[in-house]
Amino acid sequence: MSIRAIDAHSVHHISSGQVVIDLQTAVKELVENSLDAGATSIEVRFQHYGLKTIEVVDNGSGIAPKDHDSIALKHYTSKLSSFEDLSRVLTFGFRGEALSSLCALCDGFTVTTATCSEAPMGTVIEMDRNGKMRSKGKIARQRGTTVTVSNLFKPLPVRRKELERNAKREFQKALNLLHSYALVPCALENKGVRLTVSNQTEGGSRKVVQFKTDGSPSIRISVLAVWGSKALENIVDLDLSFDVETERSVMKRVDPNNDISIVTPVKVQGLISKFAVGAGRTSVDRQFFFVNGRPYNPGKVQKAINEVYRTFNINQSPFVIANVILPTNACDINVSPDKRTIFLHSENNLVQALKVRRCISQTWFVPSHACSHR
Ligand code: ADP
Ligand code: MG
Repeated sequence: MSIRAIDAHSVHHISSGQVVIDLQTAVKELVENSLDAGATSIEVRFQHYGLKTIEVVDNGSGIAPKDHDSIALKHYTSKLSSFEDLSRVLTFGFRGEALSSLCALCDGFTVTTATCSEAPMGTVIEMDRNGKMRSKGKIARQRGTTVTVSNLFKPLPVRRKELERNAKREFQKALNLLHSYALVPCALENKGVRLTVSNQTEGGSRKVVQFKTDGSPSIRISVLAVWGSKALENIVDLDLSFDVETERSVMKRVDPNNDISIVTPVKVQGLISKFAVGAGRTSVDRQFFFVNGRPYNPGKVQKAINEVYRTFNINQSPFVIANVILPTNACDINVSPDKRTIFLHSENNLVQALKVRRCISQTWFVPSHACSHR
C-alpha cells in the first residue's frame, strides 16, 4: 500500500476530536475565549445538560467585522503570531483551533457579536462544519459575543451516545470545571468576573441557576458564592514563596553546553483546609490547581500537597485552591491540545521544596487570624 496524504477535510475532523474531548472541554474553550476578550460578565447557558445547546454570552471586546470570516477557521487566532510568542503568552487561547473544532463536532454553530463601535447593532453569523461562514445578518446586540453550539458530538455517533448516556455526570464535570473558572479571575490580577451558570431541562420551562458569582475579586467571596459559607470554615490562606533551582536536565535540554543552574522564584497562593482532624474533606473532590491563573490537571504538586496534609490529618484531604505563580518561560503550556497539561520546568524541585517547607515549620500556612479577604 502506498503512503498518501490524508485529505484536509478528514485531518480537520480527526484532530478536532482531540481538542474538544468532552462536554467540559467544549465549555472550557468558550469561557476561556470570553475571559481572553476581557469580559467582566459571562453567562453559560446549558439546555438539557448541554446535550441540546451550550451557549456562552459575554460582554467582552466583541469581534470586529474584518475578522468575521476567520472566526472559526483552523489555526486562525488573534492571540499568537509566531512560535516565539508562546513562551510569553498570557491568554488562555493561542492555538486557534477551539472554534473550528467545535464547528466540526456539532450540528449548529452560531456567533453573535458586536464591538464597541457597532453596538447596539451586532452581527449574527452561522458557520458550517468546516468553520466557513454559512450566513450573516444584523441583530440588536450590546458589546460582546455569544457563541451557541447545538447538538455537540452529533457527527461522532459513538461519542454522542456516550454523552447522552452519561449526560448528568458529564454536566457535573463541566460544572466542576466552571467552578475553577469562577476562581480564575481572582487568581489573575485580582480581577473579578461575574459568572452565571444555568441549565434548562427539556420540557422544563425555567432556567435553573446552578451557581453565580458576583464579580468580586476576592477568592473567599467567590468560594462563598459557589459553595456557601460552610466552605469557608476551617480554611486558611496558602501563601508560599520558594526559590526553586531549575533542574539540570532541563537546563541541558535548553542548552547542552550550559551546566549552570538558575533559580526560579515560585509562589503558591490560594486557600487550603486547616490541618486539624475534621477540618478537611472525606474525598478529594474540591481541589483546584492553576499555573499563573490557568486551570490545569496537576500531577506531582497535588500529590505532594495531599501527602503532606495527610501526615497531619490521615483520613482526610484538603479543600485546596492553589495558584502556582512562576515566570512564563519556566513552564510549557503547549503540551496537549486541550491545554490542561502543563510542564513545570522544575516540578520535582518544587515538590521537594513543598515537602521540606512542611518539615521545617510543621505548618506551611499563614495562621487563620492573619487571613484577609483577597
Ligand atoms: P484561540 O482562542 O486559540 O485564539 P479560538 O478558536 O478559541 O482560538 O478562537 C478564535 C478567535 O476568535 C480568537 O483568537 C478570538 O480572536 C476570536 N474569539 C473567539 N471567541 C471570542 C469571544 N468570546 N470574544 C471575542 N473574540 C472571540
Ligand atoms: Mg480559544
